[in-house]
Amino acid sequence: MLSFDVCECGAPLQRMERETPRPKGTEVVLKVLAAGVCHSDLHIWDGYYDIGGGQKLKLLDRGIKLPLTMGHENVGEVIAVGPEAKGVGVGDVRLVDPWMGCGECVVCRRGDENLCTKPCSVGVHRAGGYSTHLLVPHPRYLFDIGNLSPERAAPLACSGVTAYGALTKVSETLRDEPVVMFGAGGVGLMALALHKKMGGKSAIVVDIDPVKREAAMKAGAAKTIDGKAPDVLDQIRAATGGGAWASIDFVGAGQTVKLGVDAAIKGGKVVVVGLFGGDVVVPTPFFPIKALTIQGSYVGSLNEVAELLALVKDKGAPDVPVATRPLEQVNAALNDLRDGRIVGRVVMTPS
Ligand SMILES: [Zn+2]
Ligand SMILES: [Zn+2]
Repeated sequence: MLSFDVCECGAPLQRMERETPRPKGTEVVLKVLAAGVCHSDLHIWDGYYDIGGGQKLKLLDRGIKLPLTMGHENVGEVIAVGPEAKGVGVGDVRLVDPWMGCGECVVCRRGDENLCTKPCSVGVHRAGGYSTHLLVPHPRYLFDIGNLSPERAAPLACSGVTAYGALTKVSETLRDEPVVMFGAGGVGLMALALHKKMGGKSAIVVDIDPVKREAAMKAGAAKTIDGKAPDVLDQIRAATGGGAWASIDFVGAGQTVKLGVDAAIKGGKVVVVGLFGGDVVVPTPFFPIKALTIQGSYVGSLNEVAELLALVKDKGAPDVPVATRPLEQVNAALNDLRDGRIVGRVVMTPS
């Protein structure tokens, strides 16, 4: 098998050859058909998250080992199954839920493997899909994609379930009030598309990039606002009729979270999804006086992946721009993403 691996943080991915794995026990081996390129790959590649005040959260200190094959949005065709792998057969095309946990800790037992205290996510802690082959430890992580194409289904594993998981956290107001979304990158555009399928009233998108704002309008935003405008807060308040009941921050910068807090109406909620980094100061009286909720959302659970696929099968695939590129161009694709040259999703096609 062939893969492109991070061998040194921030350095170009290296082409590696290894023996193709043979499945044991409940394991399943897939030939990778589609592997989406996600913004969080840039953080994994760099090896850290910015946590504000000049501090970095180093991923190598948190159980991530090099060399690492990244790629966590994968669809593959099953080519071999272990003797105890039930419910899946050779030739099946499956989406891989990458957010694997230990399956045994208290968090996993509540159904939130994505929040496991000892995560072993595909493309983060274990080998991912920038590769011709992928080993999955158990068939419970594999989902039928129906008649979706692999390249349209792959982004559901991360940007899809991340958007879905965030939208479910504002479900109290979704149908009746506009939702404000910060950032119209891959996840933001996915959220716009899913928001409509979930019966959302309308979406107001804030982004500093005119190209992304245009993409958001095309994807069905009711209004877009320039995040750099000096009166951005007033514009959000006007567009929401006095303040936002629900904001979802797909950027996660200190400034955007602050803007979400400032734009919230009394009783409003800010859901933080993006990992851009930074920090934020919130006057503590705001929590009671504004009855403010700030909630984090990290990808989604196995149940949420299943719900998302059911929604997509019922209402159609999210209409997010998807471009495919051969696996050999993965370094170029990552650099284009870092430079903001990608609208929607790029999906590598290893086989
Ligand atoms: Zn991702
Ligand atoms: Zn666990």
